[in-house]
Amino acid sequence: MSVPALQLEGVRKSFGKLDVLRGIDLTVAEHEVVCLIGASGSGKSTLLRCVNLLEPIDAGRIVVAGTEISAGAVDVDRVRRGIGIVFQAFNLFPHMTVLGNVTLAPRRVLGRSRAEADAHAEALLERFGLADKRDEFPDRLSGGQQQRVAIVRALAMRPALLLLDEVTSALDPELVAEVLDVVRELAAEGMTMVIATHEMGFARDVAHRVCFLDQGAILEQGTPERIFSAPREPRTQQFLQRIV
Ligand code: ADP
Ligand code: MG
Repeated sequence: MSVPALQLEGVRKSFGKLDVLRGIDLTVAEHEVVCLIGASGSGKSTLLRCVNLLEPIDAGRIVVAGTEISAGAVDVDRVRRGIGIVFQAFNLFPHMTVLGNVTLAPRRVLGRSRAEADAHAEALLERFGLADKRDEFPDRLSGGQQQRVAIVRALAMRPALLLLDEVTSALDPELVAEVLDVVRELAAEGMTMVIATHEMGFARDVAHRVCFLDQGAILEQGTPERIFSAPREPRTQQFLQRIV
């Protein structure tokens, strides 16, 4: 067995008196795609933010490729470099072109030359059908294109792990598919991903494993077939009945 890409052990997180993560245990293998589903407020975003060290945890351990990142002495910037995260809001830099957005971190953080960063960015843009948008500013792109650029920007850092938080939630319905297609392609290539989503059809299609979060705990997990066809927990059944 190779070292898991990600391991959470007994992860707890509170905001004041609110226990948002109540002991999360989760292991993600290399090349595995795990979808987090659950009602709004169940803790999906907080879980992803903790993995990317955007939130400190109160208890437990987070281990990425064998290195504990929740320990005090960890180099936060170094950890973040290896973990891509894409949010619901595209968060592109409005004053920079697509190419500028995609090459900024590789140049500034990884110290790549402009030529090197441009070449890699162009290859990625080409692959995701965005080559002709290279010199556009974000406000000239559709929401779906902007979100694809945001994903490409994360990929430009060659992350070992990609976290996606409701990446289609802010999109008009007709733009959802083009973004999900990009994620599907990444899954097919073996990118390790943890994806919070309320697109159940997509989760069923792309996930190797689905985790149902309920009030800060993983209440139930299994293959998509099992979770969607034969959920065991009454709360999972309720949730799926409401959403589908
Ligand atoms: P989900 O992504 O599943 O909708 P979240 O992780 O965003 O859930 O939120 C879980 C709970 O934590 C919610 O009750 C939310 O209001 C609360 N929460 C999230 N972030 C903060 C914060 N920075 N301060 C206080 N409460 C927060
Ligand atoms: Mg959320």
